[in-house]
Amino acid sequence: MDKHDTTKVRNLGIVAHNGAGKTSLVEAILFNTGMTDKLGKVDLGTSSMDFEEEEIKRKSTLSASLNHCLWHDYNLNIVDTPGVSNFLHDTRRCLRILGGAVVIVSAISGTKAQTKRIWEWCDTFEVPRIAFVNKMDKERADFLKAVDDMEKSLGARAVVVTQPIGAEENFKGIIDLVRMKARFYTFDETGKFDEVDVPEEYMKEALRLREQLIEAVAEADDELMEKYLEGETFSQEDVLRGLREGTLTGVFTPVFCGSATENIGVRQLLDYVVACLPSPIDKGIQVGFKPGTDQPVERRPSPDDPFSAMVFKTINDPYAGKLTLMRLYSGTLTADTVVLNPNKDEKERISHLFMMEGKKQTPIEVAAAGAIIAVPKLKVTATGDTLCDLKDPVMFEPLVPLKPVISFALEARTKGDEDKVYTGLQRLMEEDPTLTVTRDDETKEMVLSGMGQIHLEVAVERLKRKYGADVILKEPKVPYRETIRASAQVQGKYKKQSGGRGQYGDVWIEVKPLPRGSGYEFVDKVVGGVVPRNYIPAVDKGIIEAMKTGPLTKSQVVDVQVTLYDGSHHSVDSSEMAFKVAGSMAFKKAMEQCKPVLLEPIMAMEITVPDDCMGDVIGDLNSRRGKVVGVEPQASSQIIKAEVPMAEVLRYAPELRSMTSDRGMFTMEFIKYEEVPSHQTAKILEEYKQES
Ligand code: GDP
Ligand code: MG
Repeated sequence: MDKHDTTKVRNLGIVAHNGAGKTSLVEAILFNTGMTDKLGKVDLGTSSMDFEEEEIKRKSTLSASLNHCLWHDYNLNIVDTPGVSNFLHDTRRCLRILGGAVVIVSAISGTKAQTKRIWEWCDTFEVPRIAFVNKMDKERADFLKAVDDMEKSLGARAVVVTQPIGAEENFKGIIDLVRMKARFYTFDETGKFDEVDVPEEYMKEALRLREQLIEAVAEADDELMEKYLEGETFSQEDVLRGLREGTLTGVFTPVFCGSATENIGVRQLLDYVVACLPSPIDKGIQVGFKPGTDQPVERRPSPDDPFSAMVFKTINDPYAGKLTLMRLYSGTLTADTVVLNPNKDEKERISHLFMMEGKKQTPIEVAAAGAIIAVPKLKVTATGDTLCDLKDPVMFEPLVPLKPVISFALEARTKGDEDKVYTGLQRLMEEDPTLTVTRDDETKEMVLSGMGQIHLEVAVERLKRKYGADVILKEPKVPYRETIRASAQVQGKYKKQSGGRGQYGDVWIEVKPLPRGSGYEFVDKVVGGVVPRNYIPAVDKGIIEAMKTGPLTKSQVVDVQVTLYDGSHHSVDSSEMAFKVAGSMAFKKAMEQCKPVLLEPIMAMEITVPDDCMGDVIGDLNSRRGKVVGVEPQASSQIIKAEVPMAEVLRYAPELRSMTSDRGMFTMEFIKYEEVPSHQTAKILEEYKQES
């Protein structure tokens, strides 16, 4: 086999909502391609993909895994992806670099909100897809209903290519509508079958579905359309060509069926993966930029172009070290070369190249455009970075990470472990750009943000298992602010005479409220040098310092104007220091007279929920003091736009999850500060008193 035949590479993701059977299907693919000698089972914890402790415990894929295998003379790089909403960001990163996708539709539950989200990303990244209706062996399996659901909720034009023979416990095999042959399986997980002519009893339905298939492929290709209109019959090659054309252009989505755990229909699916999904050549030219400029640079999917690749995943293992997974867009890469990371503007040495098979790594000598490989022990490279030829650099636009939806304060369980926690977190963030750690200057807390509560919990478990760093997650403190409702004119006088040189500073200031969002304004109206010029900045500084701790909850004071209009000084005792203290004293005194009030952060939220949950979700928002500002209907779901106080949505992610049975999604971002209603203020002040 020629390793460099890029036309014979297929890079594909197996995608769908959680539990549809993605991992089981990949297991079946690995078994059928001879990569494993036993069919791995998710339920028994013997899957070669879900091998992390956190995954086995939850019986669910939390992190994409890459598997290389061969099907006839085709190189397949298959990525098993997460389908739980908290981990979809990993799926999105993979789709960015993949050629095609197999979307699994459950014969029992059809598609779910997560599948829809993934489907839309496939549109964005122009990833052609085929569908596999899985679990045909399970009770309540209904093939046509699943196909119908796919059309209704995803807006797909589904074209059936394999039709099930029977369903549930009577599921016996599949009929291939291109070849018009039936495969009856032995049901012993070996994937063995007898191929026979389509039985009489299934002929009518098979012909009906084949007619739809023929119409669809005719529409995908002008030449075929002509043939179709002339009434000519299509050869097998014609149908396959039309299927490929229609899939690549997205005119329709071919649908296959079977059972992953029973190993039915999997080989057929692989034949069509090869036939319908694109090779890296079909994906065409990749456009990037010359680093540091906006000058476009093109890279052809050819081994002869300069080397370029994009990192879509980083795996840190405390024992094996760091593994960087990348998709080569152009050129060739051999072990022992030095390449450039334009994002970090640093060189990296590539010591070895690996082909990934679940957690196993097989060393290879060389990789070429189109390949997906792993390299160990890179120093600075993180997920999303480009790697390229030293002499001919290019940088591909990194994916903008999804916005975090939940934040928790983080604390080392044992004092003194902070360093360990910090380095561990750095490693986790290298792997996963949607995980962010910030230090809140106001509340002095370390804050961990991510895509949902489970995302953060898993991060904490990984932190402990991989880096021995034990942390506690706490609800973050709300960064309240304080402001005033009235004006006041006050004096601040600082005078100290205790032998030797004394201290003297004296100011009169007027403090006034400003509109929301104005911050702080200092106005100098001193006349006649009563406060000498050189001390005025010190007064300003003293006020700024006093503003950091308001009188109510020691929060930052905002939206005030302070005018310095009078004062006095002493020729010997006055100093910058004395005027700073005077300014600070004056401001604190003024605050007491200016009717201080609390401000709270308000978040703008967009919540996507299925129609049947609308009422519950809006009712719940009202009980959280939220204002619904708009509702946008979508196909079978609604986007609710609302403004809600941050204090009320600190744990919104798990609560929306339970309200909608994990079918809801949301984003939120800070938009403004608003005054806390007075009854609420009393509660907050009470809590604040108890804490301090
Ligand atoms: P994923 O979350 O999409 O990766 O789904 P899994 O592969 O982990 O499968 C979820 C559950 O469905 C497991 O209990 C599997 O054993 C079961 N399952 C997957 N495929 C099939 C199938 O074709 N038939 C039946 N009966 N069960 C299946
Ligand atoms: Mg899985």
